[in-house]
Amino acid sequence: MATRQLAQPSRRFALRGTPFLMFHGVGAESDRYAVESDRFSSFLARIRQRGFAQVSVETFAASQASGTPRVGITFDDGLLSVYEQAFPRLLAAGMSADFFLCTALVGTSGYLSWAQVVEMQRAGMSFHSHGHRHYYLSHLPRALLLSELTQSRTILEDRLGRPAKCLAFPYGSYNRFSLDIAREAGFEIFCTSRPWPATAGVPLIHRIAVGQNTTLVEFDRILDGDPFIYSRHMARNVSLYPFKQLVLRFAPSLLGARANKEPA
Ligand SMILES: [Zn+2]
Repeated sequence: MATRQLAQPSRRFALRGTPFLMFHGVGAESDRYAVESDRFSSFLARIRQRGFAQVSVETFAASQASGTPRVGITFDDGLLSVYEQAFPRLLAAGMSADFFLCTALVGTSGYLSWAQVVEMQRAGMSFHSHGHRHYYLSHLPRALLLSELTQSRTILEDRLGRPAKCLAFPYGSYNRFSLDIAREAGFEIFCTSRPWPATAGVPLIHRIAVGQNTTLVEFDRILDGDPFIYSRHMARNVSLYPFKQLVLRFAPSLLGARANKEPA
């Protein structure tokens, strides 16, 4: 009985805010962060069963707090598996999602092509920037950072025919400096990898990673704003931080070479 009570936290102790889910690949065996296809379908079904309304990044950033429970669905990196596995499942569930692309990687092996991006956009999916080349943005010199972001925004706007306002920081890496330059490059809404519920009407949207180890029980607790789950994700991020800094300093190519080997 005690276990059952623990598995269903009281709303009284729930974190305030809206869960924004951060996915990478779906069903791709070569991607160790990918969520298995059937489990992805179960997650979407759970969102429906629980009465959550799916909300886009742009709508959420411009909205007020809502009495209806809402959830955001986002994908980073623009991996090919999201076209093959996630897109049809989202359509079948009557949902859309926000996808963050590295503009230099579109059309390369393992990533979405522009034709697929346009097809998905026509079906209601939204596309935004994840930088041009998946660099650690907070560590770039000013001129390179500005050029990475401006290129990415310009390419997205040319290809998609609409303003590109949203940026998700590769590796979740951002600081005051990179935020300022991103605004200078024309971005207005920023998605982080800080595992915490997001606040409506605020242009900084925190997101929690959903990966191959996320069970349906944990997924429910993410939707519930269970403080234990968010704190555990936060603790994991904090413990990985010094390691990432070391790798970044001595072997940056390990983190920058292949976007789809990196969880954020
Ligand atoms: Zn990424």
